[in-house]
Amino acid sequence: MRDLNIPEQRHPEKAHKPDNAQPKKPDWIRVKAPTSDGYKKTRDIMRDNKLVTVCEEAGCPNVGECWSQGHATMMIMGEVCTRACTFCNIATGKPPEDLDVFEPGRVASAVKKLGLNHVVVTSVDRDDVKDGGAEHFAQTIRAIRKQSPNTTIEILTPDFIRCDDSALETVVAARPDVFNHNLETVPGLYPEVRPGARYFHSLRLLQRVKELDPSMFTKSGIMVGLGEDKQSVVQVMEDMRAADIDFLTIGQYLQPTPKHHAVDRFVTPDEFANYEKTAFNKGFLMVSATPLTRSSYHAGDDFARLRAARLKALGH
Ligand code: SF4
Repeated sequence: MRDLNIPEQRHPEKAHKPDNAQPKKPDWIRVKAPTSDGYKKTRDIMRDNKLVTVCEEAGCPNVGECWSQGHATMMIMGEVCTRACTFCNIATGKPPEDLDVFEPGRVASAVKKLGLNHVVVTSVDRDDVKDGGAEHFAQTIRAIRKQSPNTTIEILTPDFIRCDDSALETVVAARPDVFNHNLETVPGLYPEVRPGARYFHSLRLLQRVKELDPSMFTKSGIMVGLGEDKQSVVQVMEDMRAADIDFLTIGQYLQPTPKHHAVDRFVTPDEFANYEKTAFNKGFLMVSATPLTRSSYHAGDDFARLRAARLKALGH
């Protein structure tokens, strides 16, 4: 039995890699330790419902702030991912268990207990499951809708690269309010950063969501500080707009352990502000570009802005 708390067992494919120095974080990255009562309440609801969160598994710096407001991003389909992206701290390998048929109900129950207006649900990659977990996602969306009909639902999905078209169709047919799939980085860094994925496949996935349901909001994000140049980031914005993606997130990459991809540099808050301005000029309805931006950071407030921006664009 693996102990996922031991780094070499958490990431067996990275154990042999040389260490990359972890540079000291600049002042603008510092966050407060999680201690509030709200944080503890959220943690207890996650534990009681035996739920895994990306907030904890990925070591997200915003956990104190988000959980104090009940904003936890649940990660379905287990805690072991079949990919081995070099930036990610989720445990990797062959998942020990099949999908848990009771998990959609537990997620729905936790969403209700947290009283969320907006929830973000993500997952590990399950390349070992025929439909990539598409039906499991759909069941989770339906279970949340049933218990909390007024809660808006945002999903952050894998790329379903080994599945036929029906996998994506199944998820879209369950009608999440926001369909998010992260491109994560610029195309030139894919072989190093996201070796199991393909840039144009991910882009096409998002374009196809819009073709299947033009009313669905689409969202995608990248990390910066991985070694990309500004021109490549602007090209990604162009590509995303060509795929009709509504919402762009850009955040600073932070290196989880010495075995992970090295931080190339810390992008300054001014550079983030410039990315935000450029992205809005390219026509995104909503942009979040700050050092601590993550896909699910402030997702509820940003969803309200996204919806308002679409109504304004439609002249309402
Ligand atoms: S930003 Fe997202 S992943 Fe990070 S703590 Fe907040 S909800 Fe969780």
